[in-house]
Amino acid sequence: MGKVAPPSKHDQPGLDHLLDRNVTWAHQKTLDDPHFFRRMAEQQTPRYLWIGCSDSRVTANDVLRLDPGEVFVHRNIANLVHTSDLNVLAVLEFAIEELKIEHVIVCGHYGCSGIRRAISDERGALVDHWLQPVSMLYRKHRATFDAIGNHDRRIDRMCEINVEMQVRRLAATPIIEKAWSKGHSLHIHGWIYAMHDGLLHELVPHVSSIDDRDRLVTIDQRIVEPAEPLSAVRRQALAAFAGLEVPPAYNGKCCDPSA
Ligand SMILES: [Zn+2]
Repeated sequence: MGKVAPPSKHDQPGLDHLLDRNVTWAHQKTLDDPHFFRRMAEQQTPRYLWIGCSDSRVTANDVLRLDPGEVFVHRNIANLVHTSDLNVLAVLEFAIEELKIEHVIVCGHYGCSGIRRAISDERGALVDHWLQPVSMLYRKHRATFDAIGNHDRRIDRMCEINVEMQVRRLAATPIIEKAWSKGHSLHIHGWIYAMHDGLLHELVPHVSSIDDRDRLVTIDQRIVEPAEPLSAVRRQALAAFAGLEVPPAYNGKCCDPSA
């Protein structure tokens, strides 16, 4: 099969190269699995809802190595959950009520331009309205963030805090509360993606009930009393060593998506 030329910003004006790439992709997919598109046409059965940033470098299917049909996706600038955003709420409700999804992943990424903008002094664009909750939280804890000398590290810390804030916001939506109160198995995960090595890191223990949510410390406390993030890899490594206990927050709360 011939190699398709990569897209260029200078391609004008048509997008034939993209349509060519689509043909190549569909052909290869069919060679690998002759029934793939027939299955896709019949139904989607994703097990995960991904709420991520619109950044073109962080695509759920790629970083999770999942095929089409395996992850339901919502993306916006800085992976925010506005409780007045009908878009994210409709996606969330459909994912839970219709697709019976059991895992909601809020995934941020280090070096997020949205977060960089939110903590800058630039104002006036529509995006600043969108990012207002992040900006306000940053301003509230300006002294704590200023104590982080390196500006890029300050942004990265805010990227982590932002994910934790969105996990709390999600867990407080009536859609999630209703699912939990009806006994629906539903776990909210807060992850962050590192652009430099392509790895995902788990920022917080997953939240699986109203009680879990109510036990979370406030986002303000998380800012002033930071704890080192415990990655999934590190958690598994800790669990593998006899005599070493997994930190209490993880005990008895396993919901391995691959199980
Ligand atoms: Zn971003």
